[in-house]
Amino acid sequence: MPDTQTVVVLGGGIGGVVAARRLRALAPPQTRVVLVERSLRQSYPPSYTWVMTGERRPDAITRDLARLRRKGIEVVEAAVDAIDVDARTVSAGGAEIAYDHLVVALGAELAPEAVPGLAGEAFTYYQADEADRLHRALDGFTGGRVALVISSLPYKCPAAPYEGAMLLESLFRRRGIRARVEISLSTPEPQPLPVAGPALGAAVTAMLERKGIAYHTKRKTVEVDAAAHEVVFEDGAREPYDLLVAVPPHRPPAVVRASAIAGDTGWAKVDARTLATAKEHVYAIGDVTAIPLFDGLPLPKAGVFAHHEAEVVAGNIAADLRGTTGGRGFDGHGFCFLETGDGRAASARGDFYASPRDIHMQKPSRLWRLGKAAFERWWLYRWY
Ligand SMILES: Cc1cc2nc3c(=O)[nH]c(=O)nc-3n(C[C@H](O)[C@H](O)[C@H](O)COP(=O)(O)OP(=O)(O)OC[C@H]3O[C@@H](n4cnc5c(N)ncnc54)[C@H](O)[C@@H]3O)c2cc1C
Repeated sequence: MPDTQTVVVLGGGIGGVVAARRLRALAPPQTRVVLVERSLRQSYPPSYTWVMTGERRPDAITRDLARLRRKGIEVVEAAVDAIDVDARTVSAGGAEIAYDHLVVALGAELAPEAVPGLAGEAFTYYQADEADRLHRALDGFTGGRVALVISSLPYKCPAAPYEGAMLLESLFRRRGIRARVEISLSTPEPQPLPVAGPALGAAVTAMLERKGIAYHTKRKTVEVDAAAHEVVFEDGAREPYDLLVAVPPHRPPAVVRASAIAGDTGWAKVDARTLATAKEHVYAIGDVTAIPLFDGLPLPKAGVFAHHEAEVVAGNIAADLRGTTGGRGFDGHGFCFLETGDGRAASARGDFYASPRDIHMQKPSRLWRLGKAAFERWWLYRWY
């Protein structure tokens, strides 16, 4: 009778799905692959901006994780409430699940309540259902001040707020109301996508300028004054709005903050190449991790990294289970599309682990926009 080992993957978002699928493909057949996720209905976040603009319905980008059961993965629908690395168990939905290897892919938690006045007042496209609510609000919007704020750092997908601002600008033009709309974008960052370097930041700033989007840097949101319809920033500046769109504050999931794999900031601390935590046979991937780059900036929280880290970890765990050497390392390469409106997207790619980093942007074109749509279709087909 072969020895049955259990690999437990926590979180069924981008990193968790790839990890579970790759483990099922690569690990010895007798291995149990268990995926624990609190919500089996999973949406594809890069398309949330299209839900906002009405180009996608949430259902079109949502899949049911229960499908993975047919592929030999044990899918458990439950919220994880404790990780015990000494006992090698996780507790979820009142049950204890024992593991031999653990992959933590619990992502980042959105915490709108961390900014007084924000919850209930601001729209966001950082969740599928909320993006749809914003879409309906935009349908009835005929003009006024649209303030988009990146509340605090870190946040997922460095490009998404910039895409959001440019897509809204494009939408208002298409609807013939652009002259009646003022758009602003405020961020605590010193420039767009600081991790991608000053040249790329300057190119995005120039795009915003050409589109008449007022761009304010080094502004951390501390309060939303709903009565006055103003966002209040740390330096005392205020931004008036008729429609407020926010990237809410992000924080590590409570269960990770309380666990032995959390670093000083509460995010999971991992080896940048192997994604191993300091605890034996415990790995963390994707948004739940904090990986400092050579100059102290963090590796962005992005699906492309969660995906590639999942491939590396799954390959190495499978090799371990087979008694061979894995030895693959995550190399820090990343790629992303940056939509600029009018059916166009730019693309950026580079080595985020290089010192200095070398990130290049290709100028906006219809082709890259088609590429983004093709990638979405492939993703939803390939992994579910
Ligand atoms: C609007 C938007 C656009 C984006 N565009 C891009 C893009 O173009 N390119 C790109 O690379 N990235 C993009 N991203 C970022 C990308 O979606 C994330 O970086 C990626 O999803 C991270 O994957 P993950 O597996 O680490 O976390 P997630 O995909 O967030 O998955 C975490 C999972 O863990 C589950 N979970 C959390 N806590 C618990 C618990 N206690 N118990 C059980 N389950 C739990 C959650 O329900 C979730 O399903 C975008 C994000 C947004 C919001």
